[in-house]
Amino acid sequence: MSTEGSTENNPSQDFIREIVHGDLASGKHNEIVTRFPPEPNGYLHIGHAKSICLNFGVAEETKGRCHLRFDDTNPAREDTEYVDAIKQDVEWLGFTWHEQPFYASDYFDRLYGYAQELIRQGKAYVCDLSAEAFMQTRGTPTRAGENSPHRDRGVEENLILFESMRRGEFDDGSKTLRAKIDMASPNIHLRDPALYRIRKVTHHRTGDAWAIYPMYDFAHCLSDAIEGITHSLCTLEFEVHRPLYDWILEQLDLPRPLPRQIEFARLNLGYTVMSKRKLLQLVQDGDVDGWDDPRMPTLSGLRRRGVTPQAIRHFCQRIGLTKFNALTDIALLEHSIREDLNRCALRVMGVLRPLKVVIENLPEDYVEMLEAINHPEKPEEGSRQLVFSREIYIETDDFMEDPPKKFFRLQPGGEVRLRYAYILKCEEVIKDADGNIVELRASIDPESKRGGATSARKVKGTIHWVSASHAVDAEVRLYDRLFTQEEPDAQKEGKDYRSLLNPDSMVKLEGCKLEASLGEASDQTRYQFERLGYFCADQQSNQDGKPVFHRTISLRDSWAKAKG
Ligand code: ATP
Ligand code: MG
Repeated sequence: MSTEGSTENNPSQDFIREIVHGDLASGKHNEIVTRFPPEPNGYLHIGHAKSICLNFGVAEETKGRCHLRFDDTNPAREDTEYVDAIKQDVEWLGFTWHEQPFYASDYFDRLYGYAQELIRQGKAYVCDLSAEAFMQTRGTPTRAGENSPHRDRGVEENLILFESMRRGEFDDGSKTLRAKIDMASPNIHLRDPALYRIRKVTHHRTGDAWAIYPMYDFAHCLSDAIEGITHSLCTLEFEVHRPLYDWILEQLDLPRPLPRQIEFARLNLGYTVMSKRKLLQLVQDGDVDGWDDPRMPTLSGLRRRGVTPQAIRHFCQRIGLTKFNALTDIALLEHSIREDLNRCALRVMGVLRPLKVVIENLPEDYVEMLEAINHPEKPEEGSRQLVFSREIYIETDDFMEDPPKKFFRLQPGGEVRLRYAYILKCEEVIKDADGNIVELRASIDPESKRGGATSARKVKGTIHWVSASHAVDAEVRLYDRLFTQEEPDAQKEGKDYRSLLNPDSMVKLEGCKLEASLGEASDQTRYQFERLGYFCADQQSNQDGKPVFHRTISLRDSWAKAKG
């Protein structure tokens, strides 16, 4: 669990912003240019949000710019579906990119030219070693690698071979273009790394124009340089790649100053997985209902569940930036979600597991309108009218026939306050032939509502309710964490993270009864159902005309409690 490096109190001061501001102050740069470079091979998740908030945030704060760049150099796994979803998610978080999105594939011609330039300088060569031979001759962290037998090919031959690779004259995997650096370097990434590989795969943007594709390390630094990126902010795994990043740029005739790569710790969050490969597998295996399943840590899943973009941005600000990998407590994300929903969600009443109560001292056709406020801290949100009548529903577990001592809700002969309404007394419990409670008979104290003679009379509990004949039928889905263990990734041998999926991560309740105003809930509207949590309407799931609500989160805040 990590809150160190938290920037909550001072958002402009983390080690990256310090460098950026230093570079502005010293005049190294007049304008800060950052980029967010997703590979379009999956949907964005909450970890990406950390990088988005950092890159777009730094640009916003310094009045610079941030590019959205699709790092689309690996055609086999990429798709335009992902491109569209990524754009939607970045916009949803509230950021706008500079000009149009950029694509690494737009630079394929220039990258090819830079590769030729390295060949001409004698700093790159075509190598015929197979992938296995390449790995075998690479050495280990403690043993130097061996030079490729093709390392000393002449420039002309290399240029011709490279051009033939490009035209598709060789089979996949039969040749690579490698940088000529140092097979004995202590940094394995500098041991003549591959710059290009042959891949006869159709690209989602360039079609079949290319039979070769640049490697990440080659494409990334040069895309940064081509776009004039000043600070290339990436996660810690790339620290060991930085010498190669710098080496490639230094060899070439590029505008100075060159982009500077700075690494920060990626977000790891408890009770979930964050690798796109694993998330894709959950989708493909049907363990979840698509990338935007409300249990997924994807931005589309969080959105569908009812999480606000402000909550995610605030969370990213809270976790701050550090240089060491750690696990962030999911309770902190949940806390940020509750905090924002508490601010913006209007209050309503809904009963998830209904128990009918017949109020015997009211006439059959009794109808009364009662006023309920929409938000306790925001008088400007006004109030609404609730229908009260002879038959109402209360929550099944707000009644106990044989309660323990400190049970302050309803019990036989006991009283409870109905929220915004009267004091209710349980007169009789009706059961079916099997002894299950099916209905309660009750009475109200007619003077106990607001303005009445006994309105100040105190009873211990207050419960929510809805009028039976006016309620809206709805389906409500309750969610729990997707995995049963905090670190599903860190399992002992042989144990797959999928074996740790929480079988109760979703509970569907079909017979819920909600107050009448929710019949018109528009898509994505967020509410607090009093006493039950925050809920969000989802028209995508609404199939037979019955509204569907997701519970975004319950009201219980373990983070605030722990800190309280
Ligand atoms: P995966 O390893 O799951 O495929 P990735 O890191 O390859 O994810 P990219 O699409 O390359 O995914 O990520 C785009 C950007 O988001 C990168 O700059 C990467 O550093 C950043 N990023 C990805 N995951 C995280 C994370 N968990 N925390 C912070 N930044 C992240
Ligand atoms: Mg990546």
